[in-house]
Amino acid sequence: MVVATLMALTSCQKSTSPEPAASASGPVPPPLPAYAETTALYKKFDGAKALDWARQITNYGPRPAGSENLEKTRLFLETELRTLGWVTQRQSFEDTTPRGRLTFVNLRARFNGGDSDPWQRPTPLLIASHYDTKFYKEFVFVGANDGASGNAAQLELARLLATDPAVARRIELVFFDGEEATINYTPLDGLHGSRYYAREWRQWPRDRRPQRGILLDMVGENNLRIEIPANQSSSTMRQLALRAATEAGHSAHFGLSSQEILDDHVPLGMAGIEMVNFIDLNYPVWHTAKDTADQLSAASLQIAGQVTVLLAEKYLLR
Ligand SMILES: [Zn+2]
Repeated sequence: MVVATLMALTSCQKSTSPEPAASASGPVPPPLPAYAETTALYKKFDGAKALDWARQITNYGPRPAGSENLEKTRLFLETELRTLGWVTQRQSFEDTTPRGRLTFVNLRARFNGGDSDPWQRPTPLLIASHYDTKFYKEFVFVGANDGASGNAAQLELARLLATDPAVARRIELVFFDGEEATINYTPLDGLHGSRYYAREWRQWPRDRRPQRGILLDMVGENNLRIEIPANQSSSTMRQLALRAATEAGHSAHFGLSSQEILDDHVPLGMAGIEMVNFIDLNYPVWHTAKDTADQLSAASLQIAGQVTVLLAEKYLLR
């Protein structure tokens, strides 16, 4: 991500794996029972489990788009998600970058709820992160916070949500490829996965698309302070996120930023999905060789994860 003046987010992309066409209608799930604090899921988000996943992902080393390490990471994510009761789908496409033509792969996951085609099921909520790391020739960049932390939180979400299938069925987890720019963000550099993903949703009827989304980016550093950027988040989403942070007991770690951030939430917001971006911008070792697993803490991942779950289960799905 980058603090930026927003630019046109269009580029020439060619799909090698088109999405299936939307069917005319999908199954409408029964309404969720009323939210109850006594049975709330958010309290069971386990930061220690998330930290373990973050270490495992970081151990794959540098994971830039198109790399062998990223394919290994993708296989790891797929295996973990399936073990946790989710089905996965690769969304592959080619795009032009300053490093030449690259193949990108977004990884989508939906809860295996027993219906014949989970990909036709309406999922009103997206939870997203990016799993590529920024490409550096000069040093070894393993992206523990900038990359692995969001993916690790998502795996713990997958574990936790699977304990409440009615909630899990309403959520798509998506791991974006190509968030990082090779050089600088331009219409041909960076946000490749989220731009492609957002464009694919535009082909679906509006009432079948996700309505809202939470983006997790850099949510694991020891000294966690998430500040929600000003752009592509509605005031409603920002206020609900702060309310969830307060109710989860984590208000000291959440605030609103006046900055505009260019990140994966921007293409999604432009496609009509109401987004909120949980991002910790004050990270002194951002995009350096020191963004390693020892910068992360279970407590921070737990804070970010709990607020995400409470926001979802109490405010965004009911
Ligand atoms: Zn980055």
